[in-house]
Amino acid sequence: MVWEANIGLEVHIQLKTKSKLFSGTSTNYGAFPNTQISKIDLAYPGVLPVLNAEAVKMAVKFGLSINAEISKTSVFERKNYFYPDLPKGYQITQNEAPLIKNGFITIHLSEKESRKITIKRAHLEEDAAKSVHKNFTKQTGIDFNRVGVPLLEIVTAPDLHSAKEAAAYLRTLQILVRYLGISNANMQEGSFRCDANISVRLKDQKTLGVRTEVKNSNSFRFIERAIDYEIKRQIKILESGGRVIQETRLYDEINTKTRAMRFKEEAEDYRYFYEPDLLPLKLTDEFIKQIATELPELPHEKLQRLQQDYALNFYDANILSSDLNTANYFEEVVNTKVSPKLAANWIISELASKLHSNNVEIKQSPITSKQLGELLKCIEEQIISGKIAKEVFAALWNKEGNVDDIIANKGLRQIIDSEVLEKIITAIIADYPGHSLEYRNGKNSLLDFFVGKVMDKTRGKANPWQVNNLLKEKLKS
Ligand code: MN
Repeated sequence: MVWEANIGLEVHIQLKTKSKLFSGTSTNYGAFPNTQISKIDLAYPGVLPVLNAEAVKMAVKFGLSINAEISKTSVFERKNYFYPDLPKGYQITQNEAPLIKNGFITIHLSEKESRKITIKRAHLEEDAAKSVHKNFTKQTGIDFNRVGVPLLEIVTAPDLHSAKEAAAYLRTLQILVRYLGISNANMQEGSFRCDANISVRLKDQKTLGVRTEVKNSNSFRFIERAIDYEIKRQIKILESGGRVIQETRLYDEINTKTRAMRFKEEAEDYRYFYEPDLLPLKLTDEFIKQIATELPELPHEKLQRLQQDYALNFYDANILSSDLNTANYFEEVVNTKVSPKLAANWIISELASKLHSNNVEIKQSPITSKQLGELLKCIEEQIISGKIAKEVFAALWNKEGNVDDIIANKGLRQIIDSEVLEKIITAIIADYPGHSLEYRNGKNSLLDFFVGKVMDKTRGKANPWQVNNLLKEKLKS
């Protein structure tokens, strides 16, 4: 039997507005609990919500970036349910008439393989408070700072067919909203949260299978594993003649499996009705057009341009464009007139691993783009070798001075003086008469042996290309 998995993802991103969706309270992350709350957030009687225009702009920006329809009229509704993290007893959200409909996001599974994932809808809603569980006292506290923080809920069609595709979609979405500057999209801080609806069916079956919802995965890796696990679990049930129960399941990170959280007979009845305290949200063409002019270069556009303008391969361009600051850094280095490929290599390997191991963002890199450019130029001009450049790189990182000073102070300049090199080479050839003879008799591989000896002797300061040429010449005579 050939099974097909159908996965739909619902992602909630917190929008990076200064104040909340319906009140002027700060949205700063990490503040002391219950210090960023107002009467509106806490649902005091008689208070009225006022819609945050900035949140609307951000949502529209997102809609435009995924080629979606922007609704000229959208409506807020009350979603009623009782839970301690919801002071009003309902969440203001959009249900029947969402702000954004029918867009798409293209994901790359490899250089040659990409897919368009349909975004059915995206709508604005308010966040709930955060329950904080203290295991040792067996108590739960509630931090209302998060109440009313603007969320954009982004819902795909069940277009994704594997955990790998789901992960690719999530990464693409995360990169996009960061480019747009509308969200930090940080999973650990809860500004990027994902629920997955998963079902399986036989390949030729028309209707979708019964789905389960997996909640509470707080890293891409866990989501990927949870989806993988859930697909296998459902197939196993169906192949043994059982039926999948529609329910919400939690991913258990420690035992790497999902387990039932709550049973869903039918979709919950939230008794949605129009929010009487807010007028329908009406947008003008001018408003939307204005936002369209503010759209930055999008990740997929940058991916293409980096390949075209700098002749980079897909792999390099993909890594560089996956973070806006990295892409900017790259272009700054290239602007110092060094080879794009060399710049890409150094940023992707040396710099990235140094930043990663020191837990530093590229924006805070101790080595500026200008300094890296100067360093790479020294390689290109054969003032230092690539190997020595790594030494200079380390010194730059430790703020030991600028490139020229480090090279001068440490005496790292390559010995380009061919007279000096010739003397060293002649001495080494004399030290190994046997090897020299074998080389002359046709054992070409011995050239590397001699190059190695010369590099040792010069402590890496000789220019390998020059050493090669000189050696060939001298060994023949
Ligand atoms: Mn929601």
